Amino acid sequence: MSEAAANGESHGLTIALSKGRILEQTLPLLAAAGIEPAEPPESSRKLVVPTNLAGVRLVIVRASDVPTYVEHGGADLGVAGKDVLMEHGGQGLYEPLDLNIARCRLMVAGEPGADRRPGQLRVATKFVNITRRYYAEQGRQVELIKLYGSMELAPLVGMADLIVDLVDTGNTLRANGLEPLETIAWISSRLVVNKASMKMKHRAIRPLLERLREAVGDEAAAAQA
Ligand code: AMP
Repeated sequence: MSEAAANGESHGLTIALSKGRILEQTLPLLAAAGIEPAEPPESSRKLVVPTNLAGVRLVIVRASDVPTYVEHGGADLGVAGKDVLMEHGGQGLYEPLDLNIARCRLMVAGEPGADRRPGQLRVATKFVNITRRYYAEQGRQVELIKLYGSMELAPLVGMADLIVDLVDTGNTLRANGLEPLETIAWISSRLVVNKASMKMKHRAIRPLLERLREAVGDEAAAAQA
């Protein structure tokens, strides 16, 4: 038996987080639930970060990989944006809690009136699955152009009519002469749980879920006060 198994680590919890906005806003919620990283994950190069609780560790992955780690059991729990979950498809995961953090909108944007141009529109995005579904539901045929970042550039160089991207303040769009045109979805980060872990480790997961639910409620109440 491995040392980890002998230590009962198979009963422990692994939580997948991504660096940046989500990590920054998730750590206070985890702290309220009694979980503190043993070292600051934002500045650490470690991919596995122990916490103050012997059975709980964090793993730091790319935001778009969080659903994959949780679906395949590389992590029991994770925090992922609704945009990432919608793009991934969300199969094989429970999504029991809206953490109400990293809020923004997933939008179609472009030069004013670009969505009314005649002919087949060219849409640049990293969210190709969401965008395909969005236009299919409207019965509009579009040409999808897959990009990995800086979507705002595509209309500026004449490569696309529209982009589909996350919009928070709208400053990035405005700085590039673009404007928000259509809202596809309101986005926030969600707690996701591996389906087998929810059954096999419910004794550890249920109280954590409850404490996180309370922490999210407290934050909402504080924001309203
Ligand atoms: P803003 O200029 O405030 O509208 O922010 C837009 C830029 O920030 C875009 O590049 C987005 O991809 C990114 N962004 C905004 N909100 C989020 C979020 N909640 N999660 C990840 N990226 C975001």
